[in-house]
Amino acid sequence: MSIESHEHGFDKRISEMRMKIKDLDARKVKDDVFDDATLLALYKLVQKGWISSFGGPISTGKEANVYMCDSNAGSVAVKIYLTRTANFNQMQKYIVGDRRFNNVKKSRQDIVFAWTKKEFSNLSRAKKVGLSVPSPLVWTRNILVMELIANSDGIPYPQLRNAYMDDPLAVYQEIIKYIRVLYQEAHLVHGDLSEFNILYGSDQLWFIDMGQAVTPDHPKSIPLLFRDIENINRYFENTCDTFPPQDLLAEITDHPLAHLDKQVIREL
Ligand code: ADP
Ligand code: MN
Repeated sequence: MSIESHEHGFDKRISEMRMKIKDLDARKVKDDVFDDATLLALYKLVQKGWISSFGGPISTGKEANVYMCDSNAGSVAVKIYLTRTANFNQMQKYIVGDRRFNNVKKSRQDIVFAWTKKEFSNLSRAKKVGLSVPSPLVWTRNILVMELIANSDGIPYPQLRNAYMDDPLAVYQEIIKYIRVLYQEAHLVHGDLSEFNILYGSDQLWFIDMGQAVTPDHPKSIPLLFRDIENINRYFENTCDTFPPQDLLAEITDHPLAHLDKQVIREL
């Protein structure tokens, strides 16, 4: 094959993917959301059967878009980190303190790829200890393919903030239990836990969005964990009885500093 026809094939694949993605985008943005390399990576995932067709976007954010897709093995969620607008400085802060990513070169693109890999590995760790998170399936570059969390009709379950709870206290307690198992058994602190990053439906909950999760030896793991606990308490405090956040921190970590003043823990 000549270089020219090869190039032509490349362009064709890219524009094919670009049209597919554009068709899904209700905003019909003028700028392309994804660069050519991302579109080519998507194309390869299609060739390998990880994606067989694109459904609509479940979420379009500043950091990532999440699409509902079909694959040879059923429905999947495809999370694509945006290399252009991702909050690169914030990402770097989390990755620098994590010994698992000591060797990461620090170009902008490398950070986003490392972030994608980190979310995949965090989901795997949580899954291994039996926590209910989307099963990670494959990652490449800035793309993560995972299990779609949806009801039997394929409708994705809502974020906790949009879900109706029969028994809020039971849900609250279950979330605290998850945070403890995540810490004690998966050795992870979620780090961005809130009613936005928990899906809820059919009396079941899932922790999602684990790119920023850190190990307990991260220098900020305790204040991050405390922030997670305080976020959950804030969400539930008007709906059911909540426990003092320091008691929860002590129960989750057995940390000797857990009974310090709240403000002191926040600034550890
Ligand atoms: P971010 O907040 O960084 O944009 P998230 O991972 O939180 O990315 O995903 C954004 C939204 O997409 C979630 O709040 C949820 O509604 C939906 N979503 C993400 N992953 C899944 C999944 N595996 N199954 C169903 N819905 C998902
Ligand atoms: Mn999120």
